[in-house]
Amino acid sequence: MSEGRTAVITGGSRGIGAAIANRLARDGADIALIATKDSESARKTVESIRALGRKCEFFACNVADEAECSATAGAILEEFGSVDILVNNAGITNDKLMVQMKEDDFSKVLEVNLLGAYHMSKAFLRSFMRKKSGRIINISSVVGLMGNAGQTNYAASKAGLIGLTKSMAKEYAAKGITVNAIAPGYIETAMTGAMTDGAAEKILESIPLKRAGSPEDVANLAAFLAQDETSYITGEVIKVDGGMYI
Ligand code: NDP
Repeated sequence: MSEGRTAVITGGSRGIGAAIANRLARDGADIALIATKDSESARKTVESIRALGRKCEFFACNVADEAECSATAGAILEEFGSVDILVNNAGITNDKLMVQMKEDDFSKVLEVNLLGAYHMSKAFLRSFMRKKSGRIINISSVVGLMGNAGQTNYAASKAGLIGLTKSMAKEYAAKGITVNAIAPGYIETAMTGAMTDGAAEKILESIPLKRAGSPEDVANLAAFLAQDETSYITGEVIKVDGGMYI
């Protein structure tokens, strides 16, 4: 359980991030929610968490921007006093075959998905080190493990997150900070909703459990990794993919 703790969720306005925020709030955590803008979905997520009786505040921040991340982390620490759990979930796609992919298409995805996690982790590291505790959960993807045609930029960013996770886990274990990654498979959200029916059907056929995952399937694992009882798990990459990549 996460009773009395504070969790920061990037990309918390909708989809997997909103599900993780709701789940940690149900487990008793107060929530600092981050997305680029104060949208209707962000407001709905904030309201749903407050309805659970937990504190929840929204912070607009582009995780690709280091100065914004540092200022946002400062504002969160001031508002909540301390932070216990950081979930680096913000992510984007920009799928194209590599021959058609411009450098900007490639780097923008890395800047949000990989540099974003670096910026936010760095922004909270000192406060975690001072407390000698902290949980960092990075949302990677099975695509970072298995690769995917049309997603060289996205797969590189998600594979990079795995290297970041394992290296940070080694670097900060002595400070009581655990760092793990979740690698979701095909999860029904706005991100996968943009796929054509044919492409989605093909993926579903390749999943042994024969169904798409829900954001709550991912949130259940995030809640497990955030608990006090799982403090001996670090540097792990755990798939939530219905057997898509075995
Ligand atoms: P969504 O597109 O539904 O949500 C993405 C979230 O990220 C939104 O809250 C969005 O906020 C936020 N975001 C995007 N760019 C930035 C930025 N620059 N700074 C801050 N926040 C930002 O995606 P999902 O819920 O599907 O995905 C969540 C994570 O899970 C991603 O990292 C994704 O790669 C990963 N994942 C998803 C899978 C799936 O099948 N859906 C599979 C494997 C991994 P805003 O409101 O500002 O747009």
